[in-house]
Amino acid sequence: MKQELVQELSKLTKKAYRKEIGECTDAQIYQCVLQLVKNRMEDRPITRGKKKVYYISMEFLIGKLLSNNLINLGIYDEVKELLEKNGKSITAIEEAEPEPSLGNGGLGRLAACFLDSMATLELPGDGIGLNYHFGLFKQVFKEHLQKAEKNKWIEKKSWLETTGKRFEVAFGDRKVTSVLYDIDVIGYERGHNKLHLFDVESLDEKLVKKGIDFDKTAIEKNLTLFLYPDDSDEAGNLLRIYQEYFMVSSGAQYIIQELKEQGCDLHHMDQYAAIQINDTHPTLVIPELIRILTWDEGFTIDDAVKVVSKTCAYTNHTILAEALETWPLAYIEKVVPQLVPIIKELSARVAKRYKNPKVQIIDADKRVHMAHIDIHYGYSINGVAAIHTDILKNTELNHFYRIYPEKFNNKTNGITFRRWLLSCNRELAALLTETIGDGYKQNAEELEKLLAQKENGKVLNAIDDIKQQKKKELAAYIQEKEGISLDTDSIFDIQIKRLHEYKRQQMNALYIIHKYLEIKGGKKPSTPMTFIFGAKAAPAYVIAQDIIHLLLVLSEIVNNDPEVSPYMKVVMVENYNVSYAEKLIPACDISEQISLASKEASGTGNMKFMLNGAVTLGTMDGANVEIRELVGDDNIYVFGKDSETVIEHYAKADYVSADYYKKSPVIKEAVDFIVSEQALAVGHKKNLERLYKELLNKDWFMTLLDLEDYIKVKDKAFKDYENRKKWKKMMLVNIAKAGFFSSDRTIAEYNRDIWKLK
Ligand SMILES: *Cc1c(COP(=O)(O)O)cnc(C)c1O
Repeated sequence: MKQELVQELSKLTKKAYRKEIGECTDAQIYQCVLQLVKNRMEDRPITRGKKKVYYISMEFLIGKLLSNNLINLGIYDEVKELLEKNGKSITAIEEAEPEPSLGNGGLGRLAACFLDSMATLELPGDGIGLNYHFGLFKQVFKEHLQKAEKNKWIEKKSWLETTGKRFEVAFGDRKVTSVLYDIDVIGYERGHNKLHLFDVESLDEKLVKKGIDFDKTAIEKNLTLFLYPDDSDEAGNLLRIYQEYFMVSSGAQYIIQELKEQGCDLHHMDQYAAIQINDTHPTLVIPELIRILTWDEGFTIDDAVKVVSKTCAYTNHTILAEALETWPLAYIEKVVPQLVPIIKELSARVAKRYKNPKVQIIDADKRVHMAHIDIHYGYSINGVAAIHTDILKNTELNHFYRIYPEKFNNKTNGITFRRWLLSCNRELAALLTETIGDGYKQNAEELEKLLAQKENGKVLNAIDDIKQQKKKELAAYIQEKEGISLDTDSIFDIQIKRLHEYKRQQMNALYIIHKYLEIKGGKKPSTPMTFIFGAKAAPAYVIAQDIIHLLLVLSEIVNNDPEVSPYMKVVMVENYNVSYAEKLIPACDISEQISLASKEASGTGNMKFMLNGAVTLGTMDGANVEIRELVGDDNIYVFGKDSETVIEHYAKADYVSADYYKKSPVIKEAVDFIVSEQALAVGHKKNLERLYKELLNKDWFMTLLDLEDYIKVKDKAFKDYENRKKWKKMMLVNIAKAGFFSSDRTIAEYNRDIWKLK
């Protein structure tokens, strides 16, 4: 086996570069290992079955694929050894792989974890999405501000495979050709599915001149340039609809072609296909399928509606109003006029049965509510954590829940342990195998066996040693990438996630200011602290940009203050992505999950941290609630107002941030620092003043509501960290209880309750 691998790889290097393995550059080795993995993947049979899931999503945040594919093929260790024998390090080769930029945050990462689990559970399940050439965007910092650049990630040879499949997509004013690329999805030790990514044939990368600006009206040339292009004007809105229709029309044609090839009678499509609609972006797949069945397949509208409604299921990911898509009917008319009669018909059928204006598809302002199409014409609607599904049922979607109680169900999110443990923390995985055997790799619940070692000093110390090693590795990486040196004996407190006011990075910033002022006042902490952030902000989201600015300003002030920097450091890492997450998470002591209760649907970062032995500091929001139930109050730090209180504040509109500011000298002092002379000397007046005013006069996500409690509980966590014995046990319990959050469990539940494949 080993000998075969050596021969195979050296054949590849000779063929491509006329060199021995040891003579190649890391980038050349990467190319050859890529080819080797592709050959091995081809040998594994595609997972087949009568029925298949099509997981359709605007985003797939898959991360780098090389090491995961090696692990899933079971050849990671051999390849690592082989490379080492030839003087090469696998980590250096992993660095040569560009990270695909096909997603934005949690929702896209979830889709990627689900692909891994569907393959591993040997469920026939493919992804359907778009092949964005420049992805989301690449974040760079200049003058303490975020600048967006195009993220060109596709190389000549990559994981993308051409399929030769093409489809015509007709818009109201033009036709384009979509071409299909596939990425192989290999499960852990078994299973082989595909991620189908559609691209527009006439794309023109040269349309992007500087930054991320381009002509939004040149649809043929721009359709698959960027994920979530700026939608702050009408052209941007129309482009989003063009993209969405391009994806669903290509996807629907693909699905129908595949079903026909299988000889399936489309009248029983639901017995052969389940289409999972990931958030509202792919909603138009419902009217598009109805259109195809009635126009091309001779269905009556009744029959088409009936079978499509039995095939499509919808996952809701948010209750934030701005994220629940509604499009003016006039825009849809402009982009895809052929769908308008169908949407009107679907809307009329609802209007005939239900008079409540809150459940209509087309509202009085002639806007189309995408989620409402999914709920009326899909057979399942699920939330992504217990509390989130409860809020959907009881508050946000209560009007629908009363009509269709049987459609609502919960599927608490999960993460793939292959990437978020076996790959990113090989040392911890090895320790677990040594301590509890390797059954946990197939059955994550077996991690609980670790609880028996709770008093075993040797195991506790080994877990702690690994944490220490991971902190050193991260510190070296941050030194190299960000030019900041960190004290690895300090507490690593990490908040990494998209930048959004509801996630409240600004509250963490206010804590940092509070600590800074304490130290300046002579109150020195007994253990130094390191605060690490990573976050991209939507380019048009002004306050999010201002929060990034504040974090960068704080980093500059704190790290360069000789009185303070021995006790604390602040780092905002540039261009946070999956690869960075894989380095940050194993090194974390305290996991910041501090969203305003009711606003974070689930979170999955929280699960990754827990699995790697970090302790959560969080609100009773999303999956934090389930983490608390699992680990118990002694192994988590909980603070802040609960979701009922928050929802009541919104209902009564009685939250006034200025009241909290006036009442508390600690809050006032921290908020005032944002516009202090010291901050203004480093930062920009415009950004800092805008943020200050926002916090004082609006603070829609109630930062100041929870700030005092946050300070109190966070101080307690930092104090407890000094009790090493206690802390190590907390780490162990968190790891031991993380099994529930394996996406294998989540996917098994989707299959059991929604897809019913086998
Ligand atoms: C897991 C993950 C997320 C989601 O993080 P949350 O804290 O759940 O919002 C976002 N981005 C990346 C790169 C991730 O790996």
